[in-house]
Amino acid sequence: MADDLLSIFKSRGALLEGHFLLSSGLHSPRYLQCALVLADPPLATRLGGELKAALEPLLAGARPSAVIAPALGGVLVAHEVARAFGCRGLFTERQGDLMTLRRGFSLEPGEPVLVVEDVITTGGSTREVMDAVGGLGAKVLAVGSLVDRSAGSVDLGVPRRSLLSLEVPSYPADACPLCASGSPAVKPGSRPTPR
Ligand SMILES: [Zn+2]
Repeated sequence: MADDLLSIFKSRGALLEGHFLLSSGLHSPRYLQCALVLADPPLATRLGGELKAALEPLLAGARPSAVIAPALGGVLVAHEVARAFGCRGLFTERQGDLMTLRRGFSLEPGEPVLVVEDVITTGGSTREVMDAVGGLGAKVLAVGSLVDRSAGSVDLGVPRRSLLSLEVPSYPADACPLCASGSPAVKPGSRPTPR
């Protein structure tokens, strides 16, 4: 699947080269624009099914009752993994500094859930979702992502799987060689994708 998904990203123009400011605050010469891949509904459904298949062996027979992702990037991933499991697909949103469930979404204490993402880089937003879920007393069984940019180095304290694991360099702004060369970092999606 990994080679397959990487070739899908390439063929959709979703593997961008340049100088990017990631949501984690880090800078990177590469960016994976998952929205361009998830824009294809049958493909999104297929990837959700593949992530389900990757996560299922970690669950020891347990069934999640909800799949939860951080908005906005993870919403479609949660939706499609939830479709595959036949359970609810929810998302958290940032309210001020706090990641929280809104829109009437709720979790019961002890409810078994999965947390998913489009891309994991530092795991920061994933941890925020896990904290929000844990604060409601629900139990995170495992974490899944389409892409793991940390090449497996992020430890979230629960089992996790990704469909594509890549080691992509990323740098703090004050140690970024691209900044040092004088190019400005751009926020992906803040301008039309170059073709
Ligand atoms: Zn930079």
